[in-house]
Amino acid sequence: MVIKQRFRHRYSDPREIFKMAVPKKKISKSRRNMRRSHDALKANTYEECSACGELKRPHHVCASCGQYNGREVVEAGDAA
Ligand SMILES: [Zn+2]
Repeated sequence: MVIKQRFRHRYSDPREIFKMAVPKKKISKSRRNMRRSHDALKANTYEECSACGELKRPHHVCASCGQYNGREVVEAGDAA
């Protein structure tokens, strides 16, 4: 039962099992900021509705007139 004894010795401290991966080196401010250079959120884009001229999100039903691609798909004012 050599293996069992080794096993018991290795995990005698329960905290040993829950060790997590730890980075070898501190990430410099420069590297951290380079990584985050793609993280910024862009503002939503809006375009004028071709039917009523209200601003709407592209490829979305117009919220004020309910039209999409030239025809009414929801009742006017119903769209969120
Ligand atoms: Zn519209």
